[in-house]
Amino acid sequence: MPKRKLLTAVITSLQKFYGLPKPPKIKDPLELILWENVAYLVDDKKRAAAFALLKKNVGTGATQILAAEDAQLMEATRLGGMLPEVRAQRLRQIAEIAHWIFKDDLKSVLKKQLAEAKKALKKFPSVGDPGAEKILMLTRSYPVLALESNGLRVLLRLGFAEERKNYSQSYRAVQEALKAQLPADVDRLIAAHQLLRQHGQELCKRSQPLCEGCPLQGQCDYFKATYVCV
Ligand code: SF4
Repeated sequence: MPKRKLLTAVITSLQKFYGLPKPPKIKDPLELILWENVAYLVDDKKRAAAFALLKKNVGTGATQILAAEDAQLMEATRLGGMLPEVRAQRLRQIAEIAHWIFKDDLKSVLKKQLAEAKKALKKFPSVGDPGAEKILMLTRSYPVLALESNGLRVLLRLGFAEERKNYSQSYRAVQEALKAQLPADVDRLIAAHQLLRQHGQELCKRSQPLCEGCPLQGQCDYFKATYVCV
């Protein structure tokens, strides 16, 4: 019977290798949604610049965004990569949902039962299960481990679950495997999310992972299947 994979062992190795990451500064649910939507396919530095400009020129309240000119929104989204007009409209759509559906009180959504809170957050564009879980984790509302694509890839290669036909099935399979071993401490979950993301970006890349320098070799099914002769 294969040995059960342990998240704690993985995170401990990654933390020794990369150091303890600083927790993300944004903790407000609406700001987290705007952060994801102000930019597309750009690095964190460009995303931060686009978000900072939005905050400075317009603000990050729903009513401030609804009162803004298209040109003001686009000034920010232009810093955030391709299709700035589409993303400017999306910021407005997010503000409309926050204002009209949630009455400018998104924080009360975070107090609902987990399934209900996720369902409510998924009313926003581009927020699926992973996005909703990320908001609930970063606002410290629930002890969930949200995974973005890098972190998911790392855990699949390590062997926490088999890759499925589509992204959401793979995501669910990994979450199922992790369910009984997640720490209750949200700060540790946030650090795990950040370390897995960093590892996927820097070493466990989508194509050609840099396994030779990886601290997780001994825990990794992909490494064993690819490099270890049996
Ligand atoms: S050994 Fe290779 S595949 Fe496994 S986690 Fe490290 S970089 Fe990724």
